[in-house]
Amino acid sequence: MKNIKLAALKGKTRSVVRVGDVGFGEDLVLIAGPCSVESEKQTVEIAQAVKEGGADMLRGGAFKPRTSPYNFQGLGLKGLKILEKAREITGLPIVSEVLDTRDVSWMCEYVDVLQVGARNMQNFSLLKEVGKTTRPVLLKRGMHSTIAEWLNCAEYILNEGNPNVILCERGIRTFETYTRNTLDLSAVAAAKELTYLPVIVDPTHGTGKVSLILSMSLAAVACGADGLIVEVHNHPEAALSDKEQALTPPEFSELSRKIRSLRAFMDSLNGGSAAQPAD
Ligand code: PEP
Ligand code: MN
Repeated sequence: MKNIKLAALKGKTRSVVRVGDVGFGEDLVLIAGPCSVESEKQTVEIAQAVKEGGADMLRGGAFKPRTSPYNFQGLGLKGLKILEKAREITGLPIVSEVLDTRDVSWMCEYVDVLQVGARNMQNFSLLKEVGKTTRPVLLKRGMHSTIAEWLNCAEYILNEGNPNVILCERGIRTFETYTRNTLDLSAVAAAKELTYLPVIVDPTHGTGKVSLILSMSLAAVACGADGLIVEVHNHPEAALSDKEQALTPPEFSELSRKIRSLRAFMDSLNGGSAAQPAD
């Protein structure tokens, strides 16, 4: 693919992005937590529940990119301090979204992975800024973006010197209305065919429906995803954002158990790792 130079798989070994005890591209990494950090009690309870249920990392938005300015915008610094507390208690590393170039350097003191959200995928100033750090970057695919545009954005980060890029397919907008987005799992196989970067899947925003998350998680693992990021809430009905797509802790535990046994089966089929295209 034209212009995919640094990220291209050709002649390179697949990268492993290490965060705490896990390696994206080596282990099946499961990230879970609330859409938004709402309070210390909510976040710590969810963090403990997902840790118990088999999560490797905790997600939680402190800065929320909301469609309406009147919707909950996140707790900002207070939210990051709550995430820090949850990490202290559970040991789970933190993934949180950075919205603004001005927040990149100081947010690195609080989070283990910087998330660049779908709405900011082509915010080139933000990509360059996260590229100047050494923090792993979770780069979500824009909801209106082609695979080539997405990979070019990874290229921006790599080009600034940060090799720790993790791609995340989170669904794209199509004519379909039953689901919130159309989860494009072919993009996972394509990104793994074209680049050496780890690729994870967000079946939560990809479907917007609790009832579809388990099936799409299994499908993601079967097609070679290196991990999943899912939203979990202890009281989904009261969540301040994305309440209709949050798993409960028991639903999350079931998902965790099933995807890990599917991954073990995939490993046994492939003698190493799931659905890798030939290099
Ligand atoms: C999120 O992860 O909470 C989020 C806003 O995701 P996306 O950027 O994929 O919509
Ligand atoms: Mn969300």
